[in-house]
Amino acid sequence: MSDLVLVLNCGSSSIKYQLLHADSAQVRASGLVEKIGEAHGGRVVHECGDRKLVHEGPIADHRAGLRQAFEMFRETGIDLTTAGIGAVGHRVVHGGEVFWRPTLITDEVLDTIRDLSRLAPLHNPANAVGIESTSELLPGIPEVAVFDTAFFHTLPEAARTYALDAKLAAAHGVRRYGFHGTSHQYVSEKAAEFLGRPAGEVNQIIFHLGNGASASAVRGGVAVDTTMGMTPLEGLVMGTRPGDLDPGIMPHLMHAAGLDLPAVEQLLNRDSGIKGLSGVNDFRELQQLIDNGDAQAKLAFDVYIHRLRRYLGAYLVELGTVDAIVFTAGVGENSPTVRAAAVADLQNLGIQLDPTRNETRTPGVRRISTDSSPVAVLVVPTNEELAIARAAHEVALSA
Ligand code: AMP
Repeated sequence: MSDLVLVLNCGSSSIKYQLLHADSAQVRASGLVEKIGEAHGGRVVHECGDRKLVHEGPIADHRAGLRQAFEMFRETGIDLTTAGIGAVGHRVVHGGEVFWRPTLITDEVLDTIRDLSRLAPLHNPANAVGIESTSELLPGIPEVAVFDTAFFHTLPEAARTYALDAKLAAAHGVRRYGFHGTSHQYVSEKAAEFLGRPAGEVNQIIFHLGNGASASAVRGGVAVDTTMGMTPLEGLVMGTRPGDLDPGIMPHLMHAAGLDLPAVEQLLNRDSGIKGLSGVNDFRELQQLIDNGDAQAKLAFDVYIHRLRRYLGAYLVELGTVDAIVFTAGVGENSPTVRAAAVADLQNLGIQLDPTRNETRTPGVRRISTDSSPVAVLVVPTNEELAIARAAHEVALSA
């Protein structure tokens, strides 16, 4: 069985893809399809070695987006139907209570993924359409779903239960599931490897800080808490999402400002977080605004760090003993300012950053704490595509 895997991450209006070797991690090609279903701005950017192709024009739906991407593969010398792909790995956002392992996709599995759309209406429908389209375009190749919720199926009951009417919650699947699990799992394994200890012996607090952001508490390789809940809205402040809110705010705004349900969803998913406070959602732009003396941008940064440190404190107590604090994803890997603020003045808790290491950029996993810091602070680049490719290859091998 070939270890060549096509990894697909289908969002509501975008598809991220990568063709890579699961064993060596060598990437053959990658790309991004954007603004699917929109009248303007449709675009596919495809990269293969040092070649970069760009297609611009409306993209009707996911199927059309994949067709265009496949065409660009062909233009760079790769015919996906004959390239010897061993498996297609799909990132699927919500596995509900049903899926907590990478799963070979059958008609029944696909139906269940569609059913789970009631828990993830913005994500699972796009994942299902991506799977259908790939099955048509690449018939006969095993397809595997890798669930973003899977790593958190171990959350203890106290951590996963909302204090709501128990019968109502159970009837509607209302509990905490957690997301970004593929990244948290991958990064926690890499961190243990870097420390030279078995994952089962290491306690970690992981901050996945990208456009979406979440933290987790991992005890001996097992997730015991995480900040995202039933949906990816809970927890940390994010690029465009608020994270934790007083639940009373939404009925108040519906009543006082006349917001209806679509307006609430827009506010929570797209117009809040760093963007809601400062007008920009990219941390590089936020930093620029702060450097220019913008008070709202500074407030956005302070709120972001305040929330992050609140969870850092909570997870230090939950775990009792912590071996490593780990930063990953776009902001976590690239912003020394965020990392420094996140763990500032915690020497008394055994956390001592080395400012020079924090500022020094090197590829791969690196320690940014002092050698004598009892808690190691690490930067670990995440690689969800590789984790999905490896999981898909393994499932395809045993299918
Ligand atoms: P991700 O979702 O992991 O791709 O992360 C995307 C986010 O990472 C962007 O929105 C940026 O805010 C952030 N980011 C990327 N590069 C940098 C950088 N050099 N400095 C600060 N933030 C960055």
